[in-house]
Amino acid sequence: MANIILLGPPGAGKGTQSKRLVDERAMVQLSTGDMLREAKTSGTEMGKRVAAVMERGELVTDEIVIGLIEEKLKGAAAGGFIFDGFPRTLKQADALGDLLARMGQGLDAVIEMQVDDAALVARITGRYTCGNCGEVYHDTTRPTKVAGTCDVCGSHDMKRRADDNEDALKTRLMEYYKKTSPLIGYYYAKGGLSTVDGLAEMDAVATAIAKVLDRN
Ligand code: AMP
Repeated sequence: MANIILLGPPGAGKGTQSKRLVDERAMVQLSTGDMLREAKTSGTEMGKRVAAVMERGELVTDEIVIGLIEEKLKGAAAGGFIFDGFPRTLKQADALGDLLARMGQGLDAVIEMQVDDAALVARITGRYTCGNCGEVYHDTTRPTKVAGTCDVCGSHDMKRRADDNEDALKTRLMEYYKKTSPLIGYYYAKGGLSTVDGLAEMDAVATAIAKVLDRN
């Protein structure tokens, strides 16, 4: 069992790699972005409050996302938890450390997925996902085999995120560099930071992540 963080800018491939780990290792993906989008879709008070912030590409408050994670950590994860898009600030990182310690657990690896900014713009602006099973596609690099139909589950419900546009991406990148990238130094100092090349082929990235996990 391993608890890991996938750390990297928007579009680094955190979601895609998380889904593979869920399938292959019985790990549980905890994506605060997915949780917030779900709250938005189901029209909860909190969802309504954060919708505009998310659409602009800014971070929602630490209190909200820490609360979401705390709830999810009450559930079991045979293969461990994958923190995807959380923590994004030093305050969130401290809170996660405290929550895990209270459960008698810790972090086994923090995996930084490195990618350059030019590649992120291309990746993000062509991205769409299946609304039913969450499979991730891309207009040019990974389109569905049949236009508009999910290769995995056959659904026709293809979705693009409201914040996957160039304007919001600029803000998301700025938020990443100002508030999230300091976590690289934080986890390096704590020990347990590994770096993988997020621009490599999807399978090669998965192999690099597997190597880190199997080392633990
Ligand atoms: P993601 O799906 O991880 O790219 O997250 C989408 C959006 O949700 C972000 O741009 C933020 O507005 C919000 N969000 C997700 N996770 C966090 C977090 N840990 N802290 C603050 N805001 C978050």
